[in-house]
Amino acid sequence: MPPGCINSGDYTRLDGVEWGGILPAMTSRPSPPPARHPGTPAPPPPTAEEVLPRVYRVACPFGDGGIVHVYYLDAPEPALIDTGVAQSPGEVIGPALAGAGFALGDVRHILNTHGHWDHMGGNEAVRALARGTRTYVNAEDAYLLHDVERHVHGYVTYPQRLLGDAAGLEAMAVTLRRSIGTPTPMDVPVEDGATYRLGGGVRLRAIHTPGHSRGSTSYLMEVEVGAPTGANAGGVLFTGDGVQGLGSRPGQLPLVFDDSQAYRATLVKLSEVAFQALCLGHSFCGLSPASGRDPVRRGGAARTFLQESGEGAKAVEEAMRSVLNTEGNTGFLPTARATLGRLAEPLALELDDGGLSARSLATLHAFYRELTGAPLPV
Ligand SMILES: [Zn+2]
Repeated sequence: MPPGCINSGDYTRLDGVEWGGILPAMTSRPSPPPARHPGTPAPPPPTAEEVLPRVYRVACPFGDGGIVHVYYLDAPEPALIDTGVAQSPGEVIGPALAGAGFALGDVRHILNTHGHWDHMGGNEAVRALARGTRTYVNAEDAYLLHDVERHVHGYVTYPQRLLGDAAGLEAMAVTLRRSIGTPTPMDVPVEDGATYRLGGGVRLRAIHTPGHSRGSTSYLMEVEVGAPTGANAGGVLFTGDGVQGLGSRPGQLPLVFDDSQAYRATLVKLSEVAFQALCLGHSFCGLSPASGRDPVRRGGAARTFLQESGEGAKAVEEAMRSVLNTEGNTGFLPTARATLGRLAEPLALELDDGGLSARSLATLHAFYRELTGAPLPV
């Protein structure tokens, strides 16, 4: 791995307990990569793992210990599903693909599942290496490709603003400004139902799956009948952060920044889509430890994960509705605290000494807006 690679120390986690997600620890200062002691073995080089025919997964570190999964689609016109952060293409994705016999410079299509920093922060770096590549994103999230400040003053910092955590807000701003390459253009506004062909009978169908973000989109990869070997019968669905189980780190809620009602509708919508595997943006948890943390879930495990995601979202909605019915609307933080109190045991949530979970606040606020009509955090 080249010197200065972001979060190089986290590579040791890839084979063990892996964590991810887009929010760093609250009030943490951005920290430089830890220095390696002389004699300590170097972390393994980044790899592109063939997880399904024509599908290669690359785990990209970002921020304060997060891991985002980027997927390379091996087709006559190669494509990337998401790009990590600004450092990911040069330091992780490019070397990983080279090790698998591919060249990042050959990528023709960047398909963003959504506009969040850990999924599009590397777009501009890929464009610099792969001249002529085109970027696809739902137009509802396009504003996030234009200006890093839309992230700093947007979804990422809801928790810090809800808690009045100025130090945490500033730390997050520093991390975001060094992790996102903006401005970066959107070449193709992705619409629900649009189909894109990568050659060789490989096609991608866009499915609008909002909730986590307004423009969140899943891509269903199918190989046409009669195409050469390596077909993925039944389709492979790349969902980014659109389907979350119980979130990317144990003991928290799924991250629903935009619209909790749309998120639940997305889970119902996807339950009617035929697919044989789910490729997720992070190593999301299910409802029980038995669900595991695999970012690529196949067959019955994929269906179970989708179902558990629905049950988790329903549990939050029912708990908050119950709190509001019995206690009235006492304001956001008291409502959040009471809701977490009801969910802590059944969902095995980890709460702080104040009975809150900072990493779950954005989600709780989305449900609070849905149930009370409250405005966005300021
Ligand atoms: Zn996201």
